Amino acid sequence: MRRLRTLQGVAVRGKRVLTRIDCNVAVDDDGRPVAGGQQRLEAVIPTIRDLHQRGARIVLLLHLGRPGGKVVEGLRVDDLARRLSLLLGVPIQYVPEVCGPSVREAVDHLGESDIVMLENLRFEPGEEAGHEDFARELALLGDLYVNDAFGASHRAHASVSILPKLLPSYAGQLLAREIAVLSGVLERPAHPAVAIVGGVKLETKLRLLANLLPRVDHLLPGGGIANTLLVISGASLGGGLREREPSAEIRSLFAAHRSKVLLPTDVRVARGGDTSRALVLPVSALRSTDTVLDLGPGTTAAYCRVLRSARTCVWNGPLGRFELPAFAEATRDVARCVRASETFSVVGGGDTVRAFTEMDLLDHFDHVSTGGGAMLAFLEAAPMPGLEPLYDKVH
Ligand code: ADP
Ligand code: MG
Repeated sequence: MRRLRTLQGVAVRGKRVLTRIDCNVAVDDDGRPVAGGQQRLEAVIPTIRDLHQRGARIVLLLHLGRPGGKVVEGLRVDDLARRLSLLLGVPIQYVPEVCGPSVREAVDHLGESDIVMLENLRFEPGEEAGHEDFARELALLGDLYVNDAFGASHRAHASVSILPKLLPSYAGQLLAREIAVLSGVLERPAHPAVAIVGGVKLETKLRLLANLLPRVDHLLPGGGIANTLLVISGASLGGGLREREPSAEIRSLFAAHRSKVLLPTDVRVARGGDTSRALVLPVSALRSTDTVLDLGPGTTAAYCRVLRSARTCVWNGPLGRFELPAFAEATRDVARCVRASETFSVVGGGDTVRAFTEMDLLDHFDHVSTGGGAMLAFLEAAPMPGLEPLYDKVH
């Protein structure tokens, strides 16, 4: 047995608490942060507010984008400091460096309940490379360490995987909640349990499916995953999105759990490459030139019948190419069924959360994970280097 260490009952007043948060809001093709990402900012507030109210001297650590170990002007975190400060209603001092004398001075001058935010950790090559020396430098700035950066905890980066081994370390509230919800879904799901898995490629969701399929009662596939499963089951799909040749691993996984998988019976296609209109077709009527971009209404109705009696639902991956208005229907329709159902619903994934944010449907779910890749890693039962150091063994 093991137990996650939290801050409950820990004396933090006057202590310098290195608080790793994840405010990695989306960045555009040029690597610049785009507006939005408010969900991720709001999610880290409870831990910071708690530390503030308990009189800690707070040092916020975070990253933004992929600067690749050097200073990139557009990826400075001053704007995040400003936005977090607005949400908190408390000033946050921003220091435009990660290490060095100015950082040490700012931290030395912190009073109880004061907050300082250091510059983008990924400006230092040691962060992503997981250098112990870099983690040691950070450790000098604190007495305690708190990880509330679930979204970064699948990475072996210095500030999440090494730093917690150098100081007394604890899980923040967001992190503890993510672990409680996701491990609950994996280990003790209320049945019937349903997995909805969409997205581009089955290959990237294979380990997720392999870990979820034995635990759930139904798989409702969408996107490229559905297309590939249709191909395996013998349908002749045309130019639709699918693997070139489904691997033996995919075939055997599907065969082992065939009875749990609902296959689409109708789809929406872009005929002749015209993506402005969706043509609804039964799967049996597909032509080899049709591009399958969404599930059809008959299929979503069948998925909704399953969801009606579901008690647990975990969803990753849009069901169609939702960026095109004509092909956002299935994703939207099934989200409405999730809301209408009594099911406990968990949703996550970078593009999935973006889809539901754009559709303004995030509130249809009981838990929206702040970790895109981290949620997938957790649900795949992949190693989580940022979480391991936060557990105590209990006998
Ligand atoms: P997440 O980031 O949530 O894990 P993925 O990255 O796996 O999700 O997939 C998201 C992408 O999948 C979206 O950009 C969406 O347009 C695309 N997609 C879903 N279904 C289809 C489809 N049938 N054809 C083309 N693209 C699709
Ligand atoms: Mg994605």
